[in-house]
This record gives sequence, C-alpha cells and structure tokens, in this order.
Amino acid sequence: MADQYFELFTNLSILDYGVIMRIAIIGAGMCGLTTAWNLQKKGHDITIFEKESIPGGLASGFREPHWENYVEKFYHHWFQTDAALMELMEELNLRNEVEFKNPTTVMFYKGKFYPFDSIPAAILYPGLGFGINKIRFGFVGLFLKLTKNWKNLEKFTAENWMTKFAGAAVYRSMWEPMMTGKFGEQYAHQVNMAWLWARIYSRTNQLGTYRGGMQNFFNAFTEKLEECGVKIHFNMAVHSVVKNQNSDFLVKTTDQDCHFDRVIITTSPISFLNLVPEIAGSYQEKLQSLRSIGAVVLIVSMRRPLSPKGYYWYNLPKNAGFPFLALVEHTNFVSPSKFNGETIIYAGDYLELDHEFFSLSDKELLKRFIPGFQKINAEFSEDWIIKCWKYTTTYAQPIPFLNHSENIPDIKTPIPGLFFASMSHIYPWDRGTNYSIDLANRLSSVF
Ligand SMILES: Cc1cc2nc3c(=O)[nH]c(=O)nc-3n(C[C@H](O)[C@H](O)[C@H](O)COP(=O)(O)OP(=O)(O)OC[C@H]3O[C@@H](n4cnc5c(N)ncnc54)[C@H](O)[C@@H]3O)c2cc1C
Repeated sequence: MADQYFELFTNLSILDYGVIMRIAIIGAGMCGLTTAWNLQKKGHDITIFEKESIPGGLASGFREPHWENYVEKFYHHWFQTDAALMELMEELNLRNEVEFKNPTTVMFYKGKFYPFDSIPAAILYPGLGFGINKIRFGFVGLFLKLTKNWKNLEKFTAENWMTKFAGAAVYRSMWEPMMTGKFGEQYAHQVNMAWLWARIYSRTNQLGTYRGGMQNFFNAFTEKLEECGVKIHFNMAVHSVVKNQNSDFLVKTTDQDCHFDRVIITTSPISFLNLVPEIAGSYQEKLQSLRSIGAVVLIVSMRRPLSPKGYYWYNLPKNAGFPFLALVEHTNFVSPSKFNGETIIYAGDYLELDHEFFSLSDKELLKRFIPGFQKINAEFSEDWIIKCWKYTTTYAQPIPFLNHSENIPDIKTPIPGLFFASMSHIYPWDRGTNYSIDLANRLSSVF
C-alpha cells in the first residue's frame, strides 16, 4: 500500500507541488552529469557518487604534465548530427569550445589504404570494383540515409539484409570487417540491421572534439554543477542501494551511508544487479539477458608521426593480420603541438572478456602491437616510442540482437523511486555521449 502511494506521489509534477527531493546519482559520466544538470534546474537536492577520482566515465581522459591537451582513455569524437550534445553545449555556454574538423578515414584493400570519407573517395575505392557492386552500394546507402523506418529493419540481421540488398560482395568488403571487429565472430552475425541503419543514418564525415580534450569539458561541467549546489563525491564507490520501509533509500558507499528520496543508477546492467540485490522478476531477467562486449586500448606517444599520409582513422579487417581492429592517430585530428610535438596513437579492439589482452601489462600489449605499427609504416622503429598506457573496460558495446527494442529495460525500475539509465538503454543508435545526454533528458522527463 505504501508503495502504491509512493508511486502515485512520484508521478505528480514536482513543480506543481513544490516538492524538493534528495536525489542520489550513481556515476559521474555523461549520463549522470546531465541528469544532475536537468534535475538541479527543478530545484532538487542532488548528490553524485563517483568511484573514480575524475568525472567523464568512459569518455574521461588524462594528460602528461608537459601536454596542453587531455587525451581520452578511449578514442572519442562527436558528429555534427549530435543534436542533444550541441543543445547542452549551448545551454552551458560552451558551444564555442566544440570544434569540428575533417580528418581522413581509410579502408584497407589488398595491402593498401584508401580514403573512404566522401562520395568521390567511395567511388574511387577499389574494394567494391567499378560495376554493379558500386551501384548497389550507392543505392542501399541512399535508401538507408533517407528511411526512418528502423523498426522494420530490426527483424533482420545486418548480414542477411545487406547481403540481400547490397550483395554478398559489398557486405563482405564493406560491412563484415566492421561488424566482426566491433562485435567479434561470436556476435557479428547476430546484430540486427536497425543498429547498422542508425550508424549510416546519423553519422557525418566532419568530426568534433572539445578544445583541450573532452576531460576539459567534464571538468568545466562539474564546476558548473557545483556552482549550482550539486554535491559530487569522487573516489566514493557505492556498494548497495536498499529501499527502506519508510520508502526512502539507503545508499551505502565506501565512506558513509546516506538517505535519499530517489536514486538514479547510471552504471552497467551487471553493476546495477550487484548494487540492488533485491531487484527480481522479469526486470532482473531482462538485465541478465543483455549482452555486451569489452574493449582494450593501448595509447602510445611517439617521437614521429606513424601514418605516412596523415590519416586519422584506419579501419582494419581482422583477416588482414593486424593485432588490433582500429588504429587511430589522434594527432592527425588534434594538432601534435597540443602534446608538445608528440604523436598520439590509439590501437584498440572490442573483445570478449576472457581474451588474454585484458590481462597483459601495457608493455606486453605493446610488444604484440608493434608488428601492426610496422605494417602501417615500414619505416617505424621502436625507438620512436616514448610511453604507452593501457586502458580496458568490460562494458564497451552492448549487443543488439533481433527485435532488440523488446529487450530494452525500462528507465523506471519496478522499485518505485529507483531509476536506471545505461548504454544498454540506447537504441537503435550506437552508444555515444550524445545519446547519453538524450537518455538523461528522457530520464529527467519521466522523473
Ligand atoms: C572504445 C570506446 C569508444 C567510444 N567512442 C565514442 C565516440 O567516439 N564518441 C562518443 O560520443 N562516444 C563514444 N563512446 C561511448 C561513450 O564513451 C559512452 O556512450 C558514454 O561515455 C557513456 O556515458 P554514461 O554516463 O552512460 O556511462 P559511463 O561513462 O560508463 O559512466 C558511468 C560512471 O559510473 C561510475 N560508476 C560505476 N560503478 C560505480 C559505483 N558502484 N559507484 C560509484 N560510481 C560508479 C563509473 O566510474 C563511471 O564514471 C565510446 C566508448 C568506448 C568504450
């Protein structure tokens, strides 16, 4: 009965009834910070708990003392179509700090790299030949750019749909390497076509970043939140969230136990289940059935540029023998002058959690990756390397299976007053900081 009253109460408009709530947000990533921003505007009393020492979550970064810019731990950029992000930047008066550039993305074909970031470049790309395949690729690409009917596409796997409409040769040459690289052999064939549609539909060639690196943005955002009265506790992991008899929540952290009226969790589904052991029934089953893949990334600073032609993003098919899926020369996107003249490289892969790369040290991983650098540039020599850093995450990319819209968990959990928002709630779009903001906006409106 008490729960029913609480449910009724939580559905009332806060502004209409002037209720100020004590709200805990777990996680100071893009979703947690944006949710805090939205809810403090409604006058609530917000506390954020973050287990790390800095804000930004998966998009956070670090810098060496002699660098001007931060570098993200995992390669990050924005797209011109990232509407929720741009709106937030405007609102925070930080829009002028976002800069867009046109770095070159390349595809691999028979031992060589070819630019693939404009229509003329696509026409010249030899991987598709010059006949019917190129025409089919063009028509299918145009259809996917124009249609909005993604719901129909989630009934098919990307592999089956693309093979049928673009042809097996186009799928194998263009999409299969990306699907296998991103989801591994185990899942690549099961990912639905709506996910691939969303990538093609929403992405632009121009790529954006924040002046000084994305960590600069998160630091500025955190400062603004604190100025507005939001309390942020870093280095404070939450261990459990328990609903009390009197309908408030006990949030247990490494340092203290605190009481809140409502709690918003922005971690992975697995962490959510650990934090809230009392969650049960179909909601628990839904979270348990979600699948995701991890990522391992090595950042290397070098004395000289690696890419002989100044390319930014190398798409590498797994069967081409590279020890990583993506090679990203960050300093062909952001000037090396921001890193004291050093070249910054990312080499990374999306991997199953039992992959040995997770347990290798940064130096061991570097050893595995060096032959890949030599394949990119035959002149590469180990004495170009200054330093390397390894970053891993067990939750990098949710897997969208057939009819995935039915698997998305509700933001409102069955426990009244407890909300959950994660990358697994983002669909059909590929997870990204823009969509974490969009998710935070949705969360704030159902709140
Ligand atoms: C390899 C890779 C490349 C990517 N590339 C891009 C890109 O180019 N562009 C883009 O926009 N996005 C990109 N993304 C996705 C982007 O990073 C995420 O979509 C976004 O950062 C998710 O934000 P979030 O707030 O939902 O989650 P997170 O960033 O994961 O934030 C959750 C926070 O919760 C904290 N936390 C977890 N458990 C606890 C606990 N028990 N107590 C307290 N705190 C806790 C974590 O430390 C973290 O800070 C990429 C991601 C990866 C992995």
